[in-house]
Parts: sequence; C-alpha cells; structure tokens
Amino acid sequence: MSTAAPPGTAGARAFVDTELIPHADAFDRDEAIPEWLLGSVAEHGWWGAVRTGSMVEFAALHEEIGRGCSSLRSLLTVHSMALYAVDRWGADALRERWLEPLTAGTALGAFCLTESAAGSDFTAVEASARPAPGGGWLLDGHKKWVTGGERAEVFLVFARTGRGVSAFLVEAGAPGVSRTPVRGLLGTRAALTAEVRFEGARLPAAALLGAEGMGTAIATGVLDIGRHSVAAGSTGIIAAALEGSVRHAAGRRQGGALLGEHQLIQRLITRMAVDLRAARALCRDAGALKDAGDPATLMATCAAKYFASTAAMRAATDAVQIHGAVGCSDGHPANRLFRDAKIMEIIEGSSQIQEILIAQHALTAAGAGRPRTPEGGAS
Ligand SMILES: Cc1cc2nc3c(=O)[nH]c(=O)nc-3n(C[C@H](O)[C@H](O)[C@H](O)COP(=O)(O)OP(=O)(O)OC[C@H]3O[C@@H](n4cnc5c(N)ncnc54)[C@H](O)[C@@H]3O)c2cc1C
Repeated sequence: MSTAAPPGTAGARAFVDTELIPHADAFDRDEAIPEWLLGSVAEHGWWGAVRTGSMVEFAALHEEIGRGCSSLRSLLTVHSMALYAVDRWGADALRERWLEPLTAGTALGAFCLTESAAGSDFTAVEASARPAPGGGWLLDGHKKWVTGGERAEVFLVFARTGRGVSAFLVEAGAPGVSRTPVRGLLGTRAALTAEVRFEGARLPAAALLGAEGMGTAIATGVLDIGRHSVAAGSTGIIAAALEGSVRHAAGRRQGGALLGEHQLIQRLITRMAVDLRAARALCRDAGALKDAGDPATLMATCAAKYFASTAAMRAATDAVQIHGAVGCSDGHPANRLFRDAKIMEIIEGSSQIQEILIAQHALTAAGAGRPRTPEGGAS
C-alpha cells in the first residue's frame, strides 16, 4: 500500500524526501537542527502555517514534516502554539512587535509550562509573576524540557499571579532570563530542548496575554493546537515506519523467501497501513472541526492525539522488529523512529491523560461522572 501524502502537501513531500530524511539521523546524532534548515522552513512559509492556512492543511504539513524528522516537527509544534497565543490573546503592542516575525519564522517561539512539580497536572505551576514597581511584571520560575528553548526568541510562559495562573510572552534576551541545553534525551534529540530560568525577569505590561488569571483557558487553547500537531506528526511516524518496513521487507530474504512474503511480517505491515489511514482520518476530522469553529474539535483532537501517538509507538516497534538487528543499530532510521515515537506518548498530555479526558467526556455526556474540560490540568 502506498503511503501517498495527504492532499495539499506536494511541496512538503519533496522537501521532506530531499532535505529532511537524508539528514534526520545526523541531526539526531548531533542533537541539533541546523540553522540552514530553520531557514528553509521559513522560505517555505511553514512557521506561520497555524495562522495562514486551514487546520486541515496544518495537520497535513505537520504529518509530512513528522514523516521526516520529529525534532523539526516538535519545533514547529511549540512555535505554532506561541504564535497562536500571540495572535489570539496578544495586546496590540505585542501583536505589532511579534506577529510578523513569528509568522515569517525570523523569530521562533517556545512553550514553557512544565516544571519539576507541575507535569501532567499543570495547575501545580509554581512560577510566579508579581506587579513591578512602575508597571509591568517581575517573573520568577524554572521551566523544564522546553522544546526549542535553546534557540527561541520568545517564550510563552505560564505563571501564578494574584488571580490564578496567567500567561505571558517573554523575550529570551530579557535580563533575568537564562537557559541551559538539555542533552541525551531519549527522543526528539535535535529539538534544541532547554531548561529556562526566570529570576526577577522584568516584563512590560503588554507581555500579559489576555487578562490576568486567563492562563488555564489559554493553556487549553494552545494545547489543542499542540495536540493537533503531535497527532499529525505521529501519523508521519507511522508513514515513515511503513515506508521503511516495506522497503526492507521487499529486499531481504530469510527462510527461502523475501521477508515481505512471510505472512507474519505481512500482518505487521497491515497494521501499520491501517493505522496510518485511521490516524490521518482522525487528524482530518479534528482539523475540519477546528476550521468550522466547532468546540467538538477539542475532544476530536484528544482522540486523534491518543490514537496516532499510540499507533506510532506500535508502528515504530514493529518497524524495528521487521529490520531486526539493523534496525537496532545506532544511526538507523528505525532506531530513531522508535525513540521519537515514545516521546509522542508523553508530550502534550500523556496517553494516560488523554484516556482520562476522553473517558470523562464520554461519561459526562452520558450523564455520569463529573464534568471536565479538555485541559483538566493536563499538559
Ligand atoms: C522531549 C520532551 C519535550 C517536552 N517539551 C515540552 C515543552 O516544550 N514545554 C513544556 O512545557 N513541557 C514539555 N515537556 C514536558 C511534558 O509536557 C511533560 O513531560 C508531560 O506533561 C508529563 O509530565 P511529567 O513528565 O512530569 O510526568 P508526570 O506528570 O509525572 O507523569 C508520569 C506518568 O504518570 C502518568 N500520570 C500522571 N498523572 C496521572 C493521572 N492523573 N492518572 C494516571 N496516570 C497519570 C503519566 O501519564 C506518566 O505516564 C516535554 C517533555 C519531553 C519528554
């Protein structure tokens, strides 16, 4: 079965085949996406896709990029979340300063929610911002596992204020902001992940997104975008696992036949091919609901993220199985897909958190269980 690209991604498919896939294992080994690639993405206009195209197209693009390199797709994910927040909740001054550079990709954004004590339960955020004498805010906090944190020009930061959790856009170069690269992660190793510290960082009043205390609502909105992207990127992992597995199974002989002629191998390939179609359909469904402004998109996106990320882990596991020792080797794409797929089950709300959200929604819809919104304190 073909892994033909979703409609509208012809340019992305060629880019992924020629500029991404040949280098993705080197990026993984070097633990960095190089500047030339960030520039290529900007030339294609893809950093701004969350505001310049439909959400169906956004998912199709992120699937393609995810087929080539989950680290780059992760950078696009968090950047899109920051850009979406500025566009939707930014004050005029903030929009004037950051909307254009973030859309063009001349400035990159990152997403700072997780802390040591605040993982799945982001309501436990301890970072705090207090009014500064003379106006603005003073921000303190320590954010962990910030994808793109090593490179971003701006951070979307969640911190406690007098009225609950609030969201801020913070310039990476502001006094009191520092970052430390995180190396040796299991997967998405090239995603320029960092820890970010804020020590009395002074922010202008316009750094506040929306109103004070709107942080949970803003987190819900941006996590929805992040989950949509990760669902699509996970679909790309399935496509890559399928492509690599079919190629290998069609070329290697064992037991007097090509691997692809053994029915037990065919079963693994069948599962990947069917999961690819199902994951893509769920992403398209969630994207179409977003494009229509239908709030049902929140649950559709949780379902897409849950299915696609778990199916990606399954597909990547089976891809390693089909490749045998070769797929276990350092620098082999199946090895990288396997490690990257595991990350998809943890970020933007782990599989357990999606299970809780989806089940509680179903129970509530049936008149049982307590109501819970898709943020539910779950990043
Ligand atoms: C590569 C990578 C990149 C990341 N990038 C970012 C980023 O850019 N910005 C950012 O803010 N964060 C980022 N994160 C952090 C990520 O969002 C968190 O890891 C995630 O929210 C889970 O939190 P945790 O790791 O603290 O795990 P925990 O919340 O401690 O969970 C540990 C385990 O317990 C399970 N669990 C937790 N609560 C429940 C429950 N109520 N019921 C049942 N099971 C539960 C979880 O599913 C998980 O399996 C990144 C993480 C990784 C690994």
